[in-house]
Amino acid sequence: MATTTSTSSPSTPPGPPLFICIECSFPVDSLFTAYSGADDRSLGRGVRLTQCPRCKRFADKYVEHDFVVLFIDMVLIKPQVYRHLLFNHLAGGRKDDVLDGSIKRLGVLLLLFDVYLTWARIEKSIPAETPRLLGMPIVVQYLFFLALCFTESILFHLTIRLLSFYLLRFPRPNAVSTALLVSSCTKLFPILMVIWKYDVPAAARSVGWAVVVNNVEALRILLDTDYVRAAALAGAGAVVRAVASQGILRAAGLVTWEAGV
Ligand SMILES: [Zn+2]
Repeated sequence: MATTTSTSSPSTPPGPPLFICIECSFPVDSLFTAYSGADDRSLGRGVRLTQCPRCKRFADKYVEHDFVVLFIDMVLIKPQVYRHLLFNHLAGGRKDDVLDGSIKRLGVLLLLFDVYLTWARIEKSIPAETPRLLGMPIVVQYLFFLALCFTESILFHLTIRLLSFYLLRFPRPNAVSTALLVSSCTKLFPILMVIWKYDVPAAARSVGWAVVVNNVEALRILLDTDYVRAAALAGAGAVVRAVASQGILRAAGLVTWEAGV
């Protein structure tokens, strides 16, 4: 059953198409049609998915799917699910450039996960001698890693937002942040590591690569560009983030030359 608000009825006033077909990116006026006379309480009845005029498939099948299906398809890096989220579902899509409330909450969640992962990784990778920071109270340590991850994320987003604006003339920076946050969902996988015994540096590395691949795919779809440019943008953001991270960690005496990020 479609629970999304991104719908329109046959009485929608004419204007530029607000949505796109997730299969072929063709603009469409609505994603489904709700018939007021039908019994809306029963599953699927009274709602008909819009058929794309160009490819003749459903314009957006995901309006009928729940978050679990969306999440699985995101992990599988299906371009359709990114088109659904970035163009049809979230406010960062075609209409205006505001960050959706759920995206802000996802951002906070991802930041807290980052703090946990970074902290665990640094603690495992430091040599035997006691560094200054890790002898400090736990609150101070937490605030340090929070500040570190916050700075890293801000720089990552700023770099890619600025580059996509100046190089690709993309006018909606908040949509870029939405794409980056949505495609970083795989960062949430390490919750599994709380349950099972794990190797933090190896897990952090594999999660990191999965996130990179997702980020590149989301940027490519949102900016309507090729893989090379999307990868270059994500790479530039990652370099700026890594340089800042190394600088802060060295200043705190937490990293040596051989223990890179
Ligand atoms: Zn189509």
